[in-house]
Formats: sequence, C-alpha cells, structure tokens
Amino acid sequence: MTDKKTKFQTEKQIFSEHIQKSGLRHTAQRDLILEIFLRTEEHLTSEDLYWLVQKEDATVGHTTVYRTLKLLTEAGLAREVRFGDGKTYYEHHYNHAHHDHMICTECGQVIEFFSAEIEALQDLMANKFGFKPTHHSLRILGLCENCQKINTETAASGAQPRVRVKSVVVS
Ligand SMILES: [Zn+2]
Ligand SMILES: [Zn+2]
Ligand SMILES: [Zn+2]
Repeated sequence: MTDKKTKFQTEKQIFSEHIQKSGLRHTAQRDLILEIFLRTEEHLTSEDLYWLVQKEDATVGHTTVYRTLKLLTEAGLAREVRFGDGKTYYEHHYNHAHHDHMICTECGQVIEFFSAEIEALQDLMANKFGFKPTHHSLRILGLCENCQKINTETAASGAQPRVRVKSVVVS
C-alpha cells in the first residue's frame, strides 16, 4: 500500500514538472484526473476516464479529461494504444514494461502479452531493411478461449474483423 503511494508520488512529481514546463497552472481537476487514471489498471478511452471522473467530481468536463490525457501522454505517464475499433485507448506507460495485445473481436477482451522472441525477431527484420524502429504495437485479432466455444463457425473472409472493445466496468 505504502509502495503504491510512493509510486504515485513520483508520477505526480513528473506530471507537476511537465505542467510547469508547458507553462500551465496546477489545478485540482487535473490532479484528480491523474489520480483516477493511475488507480485504474485498464485500457481507457478519454470517454471511459471521463465517466470515472464524473463519479467523483461532476464539474469536470470532457475536454479537460481529454486534454489532461494528452498531457499525461506527453509527460510519459500514459501511452496511446489502438485496437482497431477507431478509438484511442490510454494505458499506464511510466514503470510499465512494453507489451503487445490480443483482442477478441467477439467480446472485446484484451489480453496483454510479451514475448522476448517476437521482440527480437522484429528487431532482426527491421535491421534487415536498414530500418531503425522507434515504436511498434503488435495487435492480434481473433477469438478468445470462451468465444471459440460459443462461435464454432469461423468466417474465412479477407476483411478485417470488426473490433468492439469491451468498455471498462464502472464499479
Ligand atoms: Zn512488442
Ligand atoms: Zn471473447
Ligand atoms: Zn496494454
């Protein structure tokens, strides 16, 4: 518990420094948004985060949440992820190791994974083309274990499957 608190302390410090560098003012609303973002170990759209913030302070607007997420991304606390449903999701970046995602196109479940072998192969391939990778996101679309049991027929279509990511459970 104490460990988590000190961790947030570092993140708040990073955010505070970024705010100053950007010539912005410290506001209680931005701090609240940061706090809720850090507490939520999920892939969130700005809309998802907005509803979580709303439960604690109904005066915070959607634009403020959106802009704060952009600031968090610039500060290196959040990173953007896309799952192919046209939305931008945000997840923790600071102190969170790189990973890639599998997305179930049926129920929207998102599985995080990391494979040193895949990472090494990607570097090898980039090298082969004299390409210097700065960023990558590997996205595997398909059916999760549960949905395979329900959905027996698999469409052999060449079209990209439609992605509907499960929205965050607001508890
Ligand atoms: Zn990767
Ligand atoms: Zn599924
Ligand atoms: Zn993730």
